[in-house]
Amino acid sequence: MKVVQCWDDGVNDDIRLIEILRKHGAKASFNLNPASHREKRKGGFSEKWGKSIERLARSELNSVYEGFTIANHSMSHPHPIKISVEDWRSEVVDARKILQDWFQAPIHGFVYPFGQNDQATADVVREAGHVYARTTQNETPCFPPSDPMRFHADCHFHSLQFWNLYAKAKESSCGVFYFWGHSYEICTEDQWQDLAAKIVRISNDFEVVWAELPELFL
Ligand SMILES: [Zn+2]
Repeated sequence: MKVVQCWDDGVNDDIRLIEILRKHGAKASFNLNPASHREKRKGGFSEKWGKSIERLARSELNSVYEGFTIANHSMSHPHPIKISVEDWRSEVVDARKILQDWFQAPIHGFVYPFGQNDQATADVVREAGHVYARTTQNETPCFPPSDPMRFHADCHFHSLQFWNLYAKAKESSCGVFYFWGHSYEICTEDQWQDLAAKIVRISNDFEVVWAELPELFL
């Protein structure tokens, strides 16, 4: 079985997360909004999460994400189905262009901001040259998706069903287990340790391999 993971929004906690991923040889995709990455980090203390959440500065991106896959998460993280199709097209096309320029690599994946999509928004993402697009819906088994532009993951990394769903995916013929999240949702040392334990257990599982999301579709 191939295991794939992706993380949204390009925030400061991605740095600690990536340290863990590198240490244990895990592959991952990071889904970025180019308009959020300015000269300096942007953000501040979040009452909801009880910590500082900052979008990384533009100048940090290439070194932070070196060796990892980058996917398009739209230009400025709007609600896809609440803006005009023309505005949505700019959000999708312009962001892909900028990310390809910044990272000097083809951008194959897309992740809908807030997971929102419909046929029209999905068509725009497909026409822009992406090979898959992830929603925030969770579904088992997750692969192959009925429509690659409506690709659901198996679960969020915090899911209490994580290992049950992992086992279920291994038993099924789908061949893929896919989890996702935001690194800012890892709030306590216990949660960091729990995440690291998940990565280690997957890396040590001789029946599975880490994979890059685009390779499932290319
Ligand atoms: Zn997001």
